[in-house]
Amino acid sequence: MKITFWGTRGSIPAPGPETIKIGGNTTCLEVISASGVHIIVDAGTGIRSLGNSFIKEKKSNPINLLLTHSHWDHLAGFTFFAPAYNPAYSISVYGNRMAREVLRRDIYERKDNRYFPVNNDDLRADIEFNEKMSNPLIIGDIEITTLNLNHPGNGFAFNFKADGRKVAFITDNEIGLQYKGGNTPDEIEAFCRDVDVLIHDAQFLPSEIDAHRSWGHSTYTEVVELAHKAGVERVVLTHHAPERNDNDCEVLLKNARKYIKDNGYKMKCELAIEGKSILL
Ligand SMILES: [Zn+2]
Ligand SMILES: [Zn+2]
Repeated sequence: MKITFWGTRGSIPAPGPETIKIGGNTTCLEVISASGVHIIVDAGTGIRSLGNSFIKEKKSNPINLLLTHSHWDHLAGFTFFAPAYNPAYSISVYGNRMAREVLRRDIYERKDNRYFPVNNDDLRADIEFNEKMSNPLIIGDIEITTLNLNHPGNGFAFNFKADGRKVAFITDNEIGLQYKGGNTPDEIEAFCRDVDVLIHDAQFLPSEIDAHRSWGHSTYTEVVELAHKAGVERVVLTHHAPERNDNDCEVLLKNARKYIKDNGYKMKCELAIEGKSILL
């Protein structure tokens, strides 16, 4: 299984010289199994470059797009996703119901030009919005299980199983707060148990979280504690705060690694970096 990060920024794009190393695009992830089955997770602004690479390399058709939730930073790139304009492509949309509805109603079926100059007649790919999301969902040789997020408006976390490996992708999840309809501590621990990699939102610092409770995000200490309880040995921190520059992100990582060491935990910890891949 190969996981590639096309966007790892939280909330709003943060381009510029100060974020060039970690990247400024919002959430978009690519999951590919060894046999070539392909899934895109979220249509944040990172999906623009991913779509351009599909067109350039004439690859990855049909496209499976899996959505975590409906917030703008996870959908805003869709109108810049070149395959959506290309009649040679088929796109199948899965995931959280609200996210599918917002993408279909407010972006795909939009009939006016209030937000964007190009209307949906130009989105000429064959786009299918799957009404139901089974759990697990099987796409080719990838099995995807879902878990409800603790996040305003809820949403889905995904656990990808392929090639004998497991990866959990949990963004926009507040470990420290129980939302109505969200996961319980036991459920999230079971969801993460024995995954090879846990990719989790770590938008806020421990010093910031009290002022941002109920904003729907976590700290690296909360993520590390979850990973430790679930027996995870590799943690990847994502949904970087837009105001955190490359140096700030590196300091955050250094502190996360210190926290792991000080507690005697055994796990690797790294940052999700735009353009980088994880090979399992
Ligand atoms: Zn987000
Ligand atoms: Zn969100």
